[in-house]
Amino acid sequence: MRAGKTTGNPPASNAFLQCSNCKKTLFRREFEQNLMVCPACDHHHRMSAEQRIEATFDEGTFEELDANLTSIDTLTFPDYAEKLEQAIAKTGRNDGMIAGKADIVGQPCYVALSEFAFMGGSMGSVAGEKVTRTLERAAKDRIPAVIFCTSGGARMQEGLLSLMQMARTTAAAELCRQAGAPFITVFTDPTMAGVLASYASIADVILCEPKALVGFAGARVSKQAQVVKAPDNFQSAEFCLQKGMVDRVVHRRELRDTLGSLAAMLAGGVR
Ligand SMILES: [Zn+2]
Repeated sequence: MRAGKTTGNPPASNAFLQCSNCKKTLFRREFEQNLMVCPACDHHHRMSAEQRIEATFDEGTFEELDANLTSIDTLTFPDYAEKLEQAIAKTGRNDGMIAGKADIVGQPCYVALSEFAFMGGSMGSVAGEKVTRTLERAAKDRIPAVIFCTSGGARMQEGLLSLMQMARTTAAAELCRQAGAPFITVFTDPTMAGVLASYASIADVILCEPKALVGFAGARVSKQAQVVKAPDNFQSAEFCLQKGMVDRVVHRRELRDTLGSLAAMLAGGVR
C-alpha cells in the first residue's frame, strides 16, 4: 500500500434515465430522491458510495478514515497498474473500499462501504486493511461496526495478498465478538465470492437488499459444478433468506431506520 491523492466529483448527469429492469424512462431527480429504486417496478439499482453515505448516515457525521491508502502492484500483474490509475481517475478515490466513522440515527458506528465503480468493488490488500481496521476500531471502542458489501469478490490482480484478506477480516470479526461489539453487514447487489466467503457472512446480523445477487461462484461456473440442479434463483437475496443465510431482506427505504434501531439495540448490551 502507499499513500496517494484523494477525492473528486462524480460525473455530471442527464435529466432522464432508463430502468435496467422494466425499461421505463425515469426522471433522474425522482429516481435519485427514491434512493435509486425504480418508482415503477421497485428494482433496487446500484448506489454509488457517495449516494450510500448520504442515504444512510446522519447528515454531516461521516468522517472518512484511511482515505489515502492505495494498492501497489506487487505482482506486476498485466495491466493492473493501468487499471488502478483509471479507477482512481474515474471515481476520485484511492480504493473501492471506503471506511470511516458515522452516526446512524444517532448511534455512533464504525462503517465501511464499497464503490462498485472502482474495479467491481473487488477486495485487494487495501479493502482488506480497511475492513480489518473498521472491525478492530469497533472492538476497541465497543461500538457497532456496520459494513455494506458490494463486491465481485477478491481482487485477482493481487493474488495471494488479496486472498489473505479473507483470513484477516475474519480474524478481526472475532475481535468484535470477544469485545461484545455488534457487527452488522448489509449485502447489496452483488455480494460474491471472497467477500461473501469471509467477513460478510459471519456478522452478528446480516441484512440484504431485495433481489441482490449473493453467491460464491458466478452462475455459469456454479451450473457446471452442480450435481443436483439448483433452483434458478439460488443466488438471490430471497433464496438466502429462505435458507437462513441472511436474517432479513430490507427495502432500501427502511434500511437506515432498521440499521439505526439494530445498532442502538445491540450497542445497548455492551454499555
Ligand atoms: Zn423499473
